[in-house]
Amino acid sequence: MTKYDAIIIGSGFGGSMMAHQLVNAGMKVLMLERGGWVDRGPQNWSMAGSIDLTEHYDKTTPLKVVAGGNKKQMGLYACVGGPSVFYGGVSFRFREKDFEKNEAITNGSGATWPFRYHDIEPYYEKAEQLLNISGEAGTDPTEPPRNNGFPQKPAPLAGISQKVKNGAESLGLRPFQLPLAINYQENGRSACQHCMTCDTYACAISAKNDLATMVLPILLEKGLELKPDTVVTRLVAKNGRIAAVECVSKEKGERQSFSAGQVILSAGAMASPHLLLSSGLQELNPGGQVVGRYLMRHVNAIIFGIFPGVADKEGRFHKQLAILDYYFGHPGSSGTLGKLGSLQQVPTPPMGLVQNEIPGVVGKMLSQGVRLLTGLLAIAEDQPQFSNAISIDAHHKDVYGMLQPVISHHYSKRDLAAVGVLIKEGKKIMSKAGALAHYVHHIRTFSHAVGTVRMGADPATSALDERCQFRGVDNLYVVDGSFMPTSAALNPSLTIAANALRVGEGLVS
Ligand SMILES: Cc1cc2nc3c(=O)[nH]c(=O)nc-3n(C[C@H](O)[C@H](O)[C@H](O)COP(=O)(O)OP(=O)(O)OC[C@H]3O[C@@H](n4cnc5c(N)ncnc54)[C@H](O)[C@@H]3O)c2cc1C
Ligand code: SF4
Repeated sequence: MTKYDAIIIGSGFGGSMMAHQLVNAGMKVLMLERGGWVDRGPQNWSMAGSIDLTEHYDKTTPLKVVAGGNKKQMGLYACVGGPSVFYGGVSFRFREKDFEKNEAITNGSGATWPFRYHDIEPYYEKAEQLLNISGEAGTDPTEPPRNNGFPQKPAPLAGISQKVKNGAESLGLRPFQLPLAINYQENGRSACQHCMTCDTYACAISAKNDLATMVLPILLEKGLELKPDTVVTRLVAKNGRIAAVECVSKEKGERQSFSAGQVILSAGAMASPHLLLSSGLQELNPGGQVVGRYLMRHVNAIIFGIFPGVADKEGRFHKQLAILDYYFGHPGSSGTLGKLGSLQQVPTPPMGLVQNEIPGVVGKMLSQGVRLLTGLLAIAEDQPQFSNAISIDAHHKDVYGMLQPVISHHYSKRDLAAVGVLIKEGKKIMSKAGALAHYVHHIRTFSHAVGTVRMGADPATSALDERCQFRGVDNLYVVDGSFMPTSAALNPSLTIAANALRVGEGLVS
């Protein structure tokens, strides 16, 4: 049997960035990934190319949603590169204060980051380089200090983006260009064609800088061994170490078991706690009762402006602006809310996406009038609450023999009040940009799920130490979004990537 130095479970942000560190240090690494490669071509532009409508929305381990969510049963986003292949590419660094204690957010939950922004800054820079992020330093009013600029300049603004910018500026706000994982350069790769299917779609021409495009192919050439369509079903512990990683091939149903010196769990903030709990590993951890708890997912809502005519006359990609003036609060809102969150432009949605997201008559009606819409996404920070959790139902098993995961999530009053303030301000901006009316769509998915196997200095309230080692199991690390003590109010992927680079460097030095 092949001897591996490390096994990585999951090829998303945490897994791929960890693989980057380990493979480049000369380690023999096996990566086990539940999904397959996503084919690229014109089909990605079709109505059925949106992630939930593809085979990469994997329903073979149904997650039962007892509270929260948009469906009673949810699937998992499973493919090589994880949801990065379908994501929106927004690549923010968290702010300095996001790493500091803020009781208005943590609310007695004991959530604390065991490091500060300056500790992770070099890894943010490295992640931005690896993903060739476009952006403009010095324009974001809440931007944390950075040692260097972005690897790439952003694209010029579309006409509708300019209108939104003017609208925001007329209200005294400071809009700036979103940092995006999109290739705009003529550099031997396809440059972005500014199409209208980006967020939730794979890029037909591979101009999106996802992990399956930018990171994994290089690592495969350097010796990374990747097994796609392979579901890890159990981690077997012996004498305080993971002695075996059990998995099943989705195609053949063949069961296999692998072992390695280090095991890196990076299956995402839903699947990682599920795997830990169904393997019984919480029993070995002094903070085991928190495994699966403190699930956060941001409070996300889209404020669509309804325009008197076609909103985006050029028919061009226009997810370009961010407005962070209310990130740390709003002068008119109650002082107890504290940090609020971000507003980010979202483009006119493709018709298929509207029908999928908003079922029933409203969705059908809106999809007809979709060309009149463009919007802003409000992302509010949510509080880590012990009661928001992924647990397991011992009475039901999936097709692989794993116990069924169960999700229960409620927003707190503060979470909802925070997004309410952002929605109100978003409406004002859209009106100034020319919208006659508004429609607010509340997003109930778990696409920004984090926090379920959190990191912290206190072994009683956090399952991972500051190196993301799972306490009680010497050779097990968790580096997907589960590690986050708080969610901040910005898209999580770059922070997950940077943290995995940080933890990976610690493992090889
Ligand atoms: C449509 C969409 C748009 C998004 N847009 C943005 C954005 O613009 N910016 C941003 O920052 N974030 C965005 N996100 C969120 C972002 O994609 C996630 O935060 C991020 O991918 C999480 O990274 P991760 O490493 O925690 O896990 P993931 O990237 O989810 O990776 C987990 C991997 O583990 C695999 N896996 C799961 N279970 C098993 C198992 N049992 N065995 C083997 N493999 C397994 C999965 O298939 C997956 O590939 C978006 C998400 C979605 C769905
Ligand atoms: S907007 Fe650009 S990066 Fe996004 S899918 Fe279209 S071509 Fe690809």
